[in-house]
Amino acid sequence: MAAAIIDGAAIAQEVRAEAARRTAQLAAQGITPCLAVVLVGTDPASISYVTGKEKALAEAGMIGRDIRLPAHTTQQELLELIASLNDDASVHGILVQLPLPQHISADAVISAIRPDKDADGFHPINAGNLLLGRPAYLPCTPHGVLHLLKRMQIETNGRHAVIVGRSNIVGKPLAVLLARREYNATVTLCHTGTRGLASYTRQADILIAAAGKPHMITADMIRPGAAVIDVGVNRIPDPSKKSGFRLCGDVDFEAACGVASYITPVPKGVGPMTIAMLLQNTVQAAEQAQNR
Ligand code: NDP
Repeated sequence: MAAAIIDGAAIAQEVRAEAARRTAQLAAQGITPCLAVVLVGTDPASISYVTGKEKALAEAGMIGRDIRLPAHTTQQELLELIASLNDDASVHGILVQLPLPQHISADAVISAIRPDKDADGFHPINAGNLLLGRPAYLPCTPHGVLHLLKRMQIETNGRHAVIVGRSNIVGKPLAVLLARREYNATVTLCHTGTRGLASYTRQADILIAAAGKPHMITADMIRPGAAVIDVGVNRIPDPSKKSGFRLCGDVDFEAACGVASYITPVPKGVGPMTIAMLLQNTVQAAEQAQNR
């Protein structure tokens, strides 16, 4: 039986509509949620991500304050900008698009963002609170994955979730969240040091691929009936496209469809959820600022 394809774009639209409703409530009190979106340099993928985020913010009635800086911006200049955004009461959230140029420490920049304006949920305080199960801004991609699972009524309680990739922004927080009593999954976190990767992925009731390696998860690595969530976004050359490339995930989608019960496509799977959760965090930041 072919897998059910999870329509991330449609589910993201529901989340965005809810964020727009909350934004309208704030607007009635004279507040417009505002996210400062900072981009350093001209990386084409980053430009495309930032543009998508700003469009989504505008559609939900929020302000995306577009701040573009040249690649030669110094770390000090960026830190000074962050300090001014921290102090600006009209800015509710701050997002610095990663990756940053090599001469700038992403750790230093993320740590400089006020934790209550950390719309990406990357600040050490938010990461620590997430680990401890305390209220925190959740990182958008893991949050989006959890929302997809909930919305599709994919059971996590007592299930084995196998995650491939242990980055601070995707794999690691997702592992912590899925292991919470609320989700109650048994979690295996794989990475390049994992020996016999397929022996783990084949045990997964829920398999989450977040490695950034095109098509690395082949059909034989998937347990029949597993739910497969493909976080990977990879550009592969495609001369038939005007851009010269197309996007693909970490999973061999066509083949996996014959084995999995549920699967997310790339694009229009996890990607739109990431943006939707960013809107949710931004409106939450504005609501919290209003309540202070
Ligand atoms: P990173 O490069 O930071 O991390 C990749 C992780 O995958 C690392 O932990 C790495 O292991 C592991 N890995 C890589 N190759 C293998 C392999 N062959 N076997 C086992 N583990 C492997 O990537 P990100 O977490 O930032 O992103 C992962 C993917 O998700 C990318 O394609 C990215 O574009 C995409 N992404 C998509 C988003 C969305 O909204 N859809 C948002 C964010 C990311 P090790 O630690 O040992 O190096």
